[in-house]
Amino acid sequence: MSQFDYDLFVIGAGSGGVRAGRLAAARGAKVAVAEEYRVGGTCVIRGCVPKKFMVYASEFAHYAHIAEGYGWSASGATFDWTRFREAKDREIARLSGLYVANLTRAGAQIIEGRAVLTGPNSLEVAGYGRVTAQRILIATGGRPWKPQDLPGVELAITSEEAFDLPALPERMVIVGGGFIAVEFAGIFNGLGVDVTLVYRGDQILRGFDEDIRSHLAAEIQRRGVKLVLGAHPVAISDREGDLQCRLSDGQVLQAGQIMLATGRKPHTGGLGLEAAGVGTGPNGAIKVDEWSRTSAPGIWAVGDVTDRINLTPVAIREGAAFARTEFYDQPTRFDHEAVASAVFSQPPVGTVGLTEAEARAALPNIDVYRSRFRPMKETFYGGQEQALVKLVVDADSQRVLGCHVVGPDAPEIIQMAAVPLKLGVTKAQWDAACAVHPTLAEELVTLSEPVPRPAA
Ligand code: NDP
Repeated sequence: MSQFDYDLFVIGAGSGGVRAGRLAAARGAKVAVAEEYRVGGTCVIRGCVPKKFMVYASEFAHYAHIAEGYGWSASGATFDWTRFREAKDREIARLSGLYVANLTRAGAQIIEGRAVLTGPNSLEVAGYGRVTAQRILIATGGRPWKPQDLPGVELAITSEEAFDLPALPERMVIVGGGFIAVEFAGIFNGLGVDVTLVYRGDQILRGFDEDIRSHLAAEIQRRGVKLVLGAHPVAISDREGDLQCRLSDGQVLQAGQIMLATGRKPHTGGLGLEAAGVGTGPNGAIKVDEWSRTSAPGIWAVGDVTDRINLTPVAIREGAAFARTEFYDQPTRFDHEAVASAVFSQPPVGTVGLTEAEARAALPNIDVYRSRFRPMKETFYGGQEQALVKLVVDADSQRVLGCHVVGPDAPEIIQMAAVPLKLGVTKAQWDAACAVHPTLAEELVTLSEPVPRPAA
């Protein structure tokens, strides 16, 4: 008989917490998962999943435009935001229900309430009481962050409210140049909103390959997004029902909604980390080792709360690795190298491995293979949208170090490109795969000549 109430207590029923809790419970451990809001976490409730539905919804306007060129009469189609929002909410509720069912079926107990650490093996759960656990897993995710020193910041929304707007505004200002800003700019632009994307840097998507950044910036503007670079908001004010956003470059933008996509922060406030001896970094992220162990014995943390790679599948893998190590006697560490990701911009981006700049900084001789072209779907109707495919190769070992794609289905393409890249494929092995014709992805296996190297 254990001296603890639970073998494992998970704080947070998001992607990482649910996977760890489910695996541990399926192995026979006594598991509780506490959630203060809704089971499913950011990804299911107010992140990846509803975002993707909104991307789907917003793409139809572009399809309707293309459809005309293919012989359809598609004009006159209208979009009903309320009807879409209700359908989205039903689907999110269904998915959250599946998470609950899967956890329960595995034998885990779900506790609705906010859990706070009170010591190394003890917690207080609001509305439930004090519990003890042999192991505790913190999987509380992240929260949108807004610059609090911005006058009028309370008038601006974040991505969380963007999912549930009472009505679509005529005009919208989106601030930021990361994943969320770029994705929501495409979504609202597609839904017919006049969108201005304001980013303080010299190009959107800092950290991505430079060719991807400039290519995508051009294409989102072609789709209708207005892009303001090198500026940030200095004040937001309410002007008779409309909002006004004053920028550092002197411009003043009017909009029905202003959305700040200025980053996310680990959700660690008020968790009782000090009481339990759990150390954090400067941005509040829980410090963990490669086994996701915190500085406190018996306490682990996975997912965005640790601010390693803030992606759902990474949280899931970290949660699974923890459960396999602790409950299956299979020591497992998640390898954070070459994790592929996608930006669901319009057009979308897929990327895995090193950018050209990262590769040049790490190795002496880099070959770059690149192709820009109009996909055949565009050429047929006279569309001007361009796709970009790019491979970054170590010229000495011939190993493919990075793969970057902008264009239709880029997220689907990059998932499969990640497999050979992770296995250390060489350019010759990559090219040995025969093309699938006619596709966009075939361009990736027919890149024969590297672009001329920059002068030393
Ligand atoms: P990011 O960190 O990617 O981007 C934040 C942006 O806000 C940056 O462009 C940053 O500029 C800018 N910014 C920060 N502070 C300020 C400020 N005070 N004034 C003006 N601009 C500011 O965060 P996101 O919120 O976009 O996304 C969070 C994370 O969520 C991502 O990193 C990603 O890991 C994950 N995510 C993944 C998705 C996917 O897989 N498709 C989709 C959505 C999110 P600067 O670059 O100059 O610092």
